Amino acid sequence: MKVLIDNGHGVDTAGKRSPDGSLREYKYAREIAEKVVSELKKRGFDAERIVTEENDISLSERCRRVNSICDRIGTKNVILVSIHCNAAGNGSQWMNARGWEAWTSVGQTAADKLADCLYKAAEETDFKIRKDTTDGDPDKEGHLYILKHTKCPAVLTENLFQDNKEDVAFLLSEAGKETIVSLHVKGIINYLKTI
Ligand SMILES: [Zn+2]
Repeated sequence: MKVLIDNGHGVDTAGKRSPDGSLREYKYAREIAEKVVSELKKRGFDAERIVTEENDISLSERCRRVNSICDRIGTKNVILVSIHCNAAGNGSQWMNARGWEAWTSVGQTAADKLADCLYKAAEETDFKIRKDTTDGDPDKEGHLYILKHTKCPAVLTENLFQDNKEDVAFLLSEAGKETIVSLHVKGIINYLKTI
């Protein structure tokens, strides 16, 4: 089983930062993605980042990379987790929304089970958990390009809000980084145990 980790955006993406500039989503996502991959590898899992570049790679190219690995080793042997931070505004001012959430594509898919495992790991933290339980599972479902156009089970995590002061302070702390990394590692490993 190959675990693919995506990190959102790039150095050239406008906005996508905390109002004070201390957190930039592309940079934070890359740091977390790198640590998730290395923790999974330490535990013997096959994990790989799909965007190691600093600049933004188009969503179609990201999907092409994922799907070419699916074609090579079999879609059933691949999962994808895309790491982001959330925002309630446009990055110009601090906002009130907080919390953690995960997205899957619309409908019941194998990604729901992966999202469930990530939610369970997130629930072990003291994050505010943002859920949509109207369809019987906690994940939010939407037409996000990278979820819709990749062949394998794919989940996008929104790791707290980059425009909430308390969330940013936590995200940038060592404890915060460790918590975000370990929830992905735990969630992914628990999913791999079920299949
Ligand atoms: Zn993002």
